[in-house]
Parts: sequence; structure tokens; C-alpha cells
Amino acid sequence: MTATVSTRSFIATLNGPWHRRALRIFMAIVLLHLAEHIVQAYQVYALHWPMHQARGVLGQWFPWLVHSEVLHYGYAVIMLVGIWVLLPGFVGRARRWWLAALVIQFWHHIEHLLLQGQVIFAHNLFGSPVPTSIVQLWIPRLELHLFYNTVVFVPMVVAMYYHLVPPAADRGEMRCGCALHAGVAAA
Ligand SMILES: [Zn+2]
Repeated sequence: MTATVSTRSFIATLNGPWHRRALRIFMAIVLLHLAEHIVQAYQVYALHWPMHQARGVLGQWFPWLVHSEVLHYGYAVIMLVGIWVLLPGFVGRARRWWLAALVIQFWHHIEHLLLQGQVIFAHNLFGSPVPTSIVQLWIPRLELHLFYNTVVFVPMVVAMYYHLVPPAADRGEMRCGCALHAGVAAA
């Protein structure tokens, strides 16, 4: 009972006084991860590195970061939980965009769950030599996950814009200090 209450007040604090800082940290993590996917695509398409060696920036020093399915799954979960936990702080137009990111990330996470399951049960789907997700039947993994991370990121950025520069109708409902000052918003 007490745990439920303190969890609830923690979520409320996170979406109130701490929303701004929490969003800043979360968006930085999301951006770094997306950048890694972009660097990986650059390594393959511009530098013509073999796929197995195209591991982004951190993956050059820590190859297991890229080759471990459980880390990919772990990141997908962190992303899903992060978007979900920070949702209550969003209102109005910003909330609709943030919710869109949540829905897309939910599906992205299901794809990673399928990949993770294939490693755990040591059985790959679709007779493939490597773990394969559903949409991967049509789009290769590198391109697909660059795409997934982008289509989750774009609505998050739009949501952030409407959260920082909220329409007048939304401003009064906000419980956090994220909105920029009216003077800036009007510019
Ligand atoms: Zn906020």
C-alpha cells in the first residue's frame, strides 16, 4: 500500500517538478542511441565497411554492445518505459504526439521481443540463420531499425516542441515547468 502511494507520488514528481530534467536526460539518451544507428548506416553505405564491422561508435570498442540481443531488447524496454512514465506530464497537442511515439515504440519493442525470444529458445523464425523479426522479412535489419528509431524519434520531437511552446489552451493544464516563457513562445 505504502509502496503504491510512494510510486504514485514519484511518478507525479517526475511529471511535475522533475519533468524538465527527466526529459532532458531521456532525450539525450535517445539522441545518442539514434546517432549510433545513423553512424552505423554511414559506415555501411558511405565507408563500405562489412556489415559485421559496422558497429557505430561505442561498438568499435565494445562489439558486444551491438552483437548482444539482450542489450538491444533492454534498450527497447528502457525506451518504452521512459516514454510511458513521462507521458502524464504531457497535455493537449503535445500529449497526442508523445502518445503516437509510445504506440510506435510498443510495436518496435514487440519486434525486439521476438528477436530476444529466438535467442532464448535457440530457434530462429522463418528458417533464417539469424534471429529475424516480422518486418525484417521485407526490410533488412540495419535499415529497419534505423527506420524504427527515426519514426519513434520524430513524434517525440514534435511533442517536445508543443510541450516547450504549448498552445495557449494547453498551457494552463501543464503541471511541469517545461514550457518556455510566454514571450518566447509568442515569437
Ligand atoms: Zn514537462
